[in-house]
Amino acid sequence: MNAAVTAMADRASARTSTYVCGLEEILPSAGVCALVEGRQIAIFRVGDSVYALSNRDPASDANVLSRGLVGDLKGELVVASPIYKHHYSLMTGQCQEDPELFVDVFPATVVNGNVMVDVRAPQPRRYGKRRLVVVGNGMAGMRTVEELMKQAPDSWEIVVFGAEPHGNYNRILLSPVLAGEKKKEEIVLHAPEWYVEHGVTLHMGDPVVAIDRRKRTVKSQNGVEVTYDRLLLATGSQPIVLPIPGAKLPGVITFRDLADVDAMIKRAGRGRRAVVIGGGLLGLEAANGLRMRGMDVTVVHLLDTLMERQLDEAAASLLRASLVSRGISFKMPAQTTELVGEDHVRAVRFKDGSEIEADLVVMAVGVRPNIELATSVGLKCERGVLVDDTLQTYDPSIYAVGECVQHRKITFGLVAPLWEQARVCAMHLAERGVSRYRGSLAATQLKVTGIDLYSAGEFHGTEHAEDIVLRDPGRRVYKRLIVRDNKLRGAVLFGDTSAGPWYAELIEAGKDVAGLRDRLLFGPGT
Ligand SMILES: Cc1cc2nc3c(=O)[nH]c(=O)nc-3n(C[C@H](O)[C@H](O)[C@H](O)COP(=O)(O)OP(=O)(O)OC[C@H]3O[C@@H](n4cnc5c(N)ncnc54)[C@H](O)[C@@H]3O)c2cc1C
Repeated sequence: MNAAVTAMADRASARTSTYVCGLEEILPSAGVCALVEGRQIAIFRVGDSVYALSNRDPASDANVLSRGLVGDLKGELVVASPIYKHHYSLMTGQCQEDPELFVDVFPATVVNGNVMVDVRAPQPRRYGKRRLVVVGNGMAGMRTVEELMKQAPDSWEIVVFGAEPHGNYNRILLSPVLAGEKKKEEIVLHAPEWYVEHGVTLHMGDPVVAIDRRKRTVKSQNGVEVTYDRLLLATGSQPIVLPIPGAKLPGVITFRDLADVDAMIKRAGRGRRAVVIGGGLLGLEAANGLRMRGMDVTVVHLLDTLMERQLDEAAASLLRASLVSRGISFKMPAQTTELVGEDHVRAVRFKDGSEIEADLVVMAVGVRPNIELATSVGLKCERGVLVDDTLQTYDPSIYAVGECVQHRKITFGLVAPLWEQARVCAMHLAERGVSRYRGSLAATQLKVTGIDLYSAGEFHGTEHAEDIVLRDPGRRVYKRLIVRDNKLRGAVLFGDTSAGPWYAELIEAGKDVAGLRDRLLFGPGT
């Protein structure tokens, strides 16, 4: 969802949601009663999440539910009516003892510490719906939710747990936020109000800490326990922290989420010194962002070429020259052995004994799939959670998508493959299981304004491969296409990336390019 649509959603929600009270005014695991638009609503707080139900207990016909005890009944969060002790699900309103009885449930959320309830939109009664619990409120998990809502809008009750204390945002755009080119609000994909409007229960800032596969329940850090019919793991990756002395010093930051960007911005300042360890995509985008914020930046890289997994030497050296012209320094090849400092990082030390002073160190040396939760419950994992072509794990009730998975021996670090995984996974959850995920082409684009760089597929030529190369030093344009058996296998482009998507299509389709050979370098319109 773009910023304009988010703003529209916010306005729509603001029109229908009513402020009830501050979250702090409700005791944990207790309820309050509020008169909202003439209706008595019972609002319950569990951890930092809120639930809103009609206050009327249909068994006793009395307005008493807000005084009921809140607890867990066989994995379902319920309130017990103080009169005849019927239990009503906080999520669905369904009476646990009598399938004929239910209470209305209303979208409720906490926005900036304020409890908001939308009484004009009672959520459809969910008795009979199956429940999907999503662990991870990031790009792959929420894309799957969106796809599922398109494909089977009424089949699933969806509950999402997110470790981060916000709605879902476009992680790719953290780099422009760091560089000051975008505001945080502009990268929001699903604001908390979106979940309310779409009847999705969001537990934000509340990671899942345990799964019981036998009982089919998850338990969160705040103690919320929810049963599932299907579980979707979308826990992403975590940045690798080099196991060197000083790695835990204040001032040493990774680059993965909004909290990291906030921390970097806080420490950035004109004339201050930053060292970025890692000359891959993330490291270079971090370096550019910090430079744009006025810092003196040095990139340290273990090898002597940048982005060695995406670029050949020629493109890497053009890239380095462009970054140098922007005022970024490089120390490479160089192996970092220690981060020096007492109560804050002060310098980076290298294997050759040399040091660079630093007020801030950003470690951007790679990511590792987040599989702790999966391994803790015996799900089969290698580097990632193992999934088949339907994104199902070794437990048929549990699916997984995104950077936490390993599919056909491959793990993922870019979003394009995740979109395809999300579509296929949603199709199977929607029981329209005709699609299979067979892997995707990895295409990379650096997001440094003014530097056009694109890489897709293979870029190291092999014995039987042919290189088609264009070098135009005047325009600072470099293009290299790798062709084998009359098929385009890879493309590395610097300076003019306009044909990148066309090359990606040709590579993915495995199209015979013999007839296109003469004009291949010049793009689709030639
Ligand atoms: C700075 C930056 C720039 C990038 N640029 C690009 C780019 O240009 N192009 C590109 O294709 N890709 C880019 N990427 C990679 C892309 O962002 C990721 O591939 C994508 O976000 C992965 O999606 P995911 O849902 O698997 O993981 P994430 O988006 O990381 O989402 C996982 C979520 O799960 C949460 N979580 C983890 N454990 C739990 C738990 N137990 N309970 C609840 N929640 C949990 C995490 O906090 C996180 O919010 C970039 C990444 C970064 C960091």
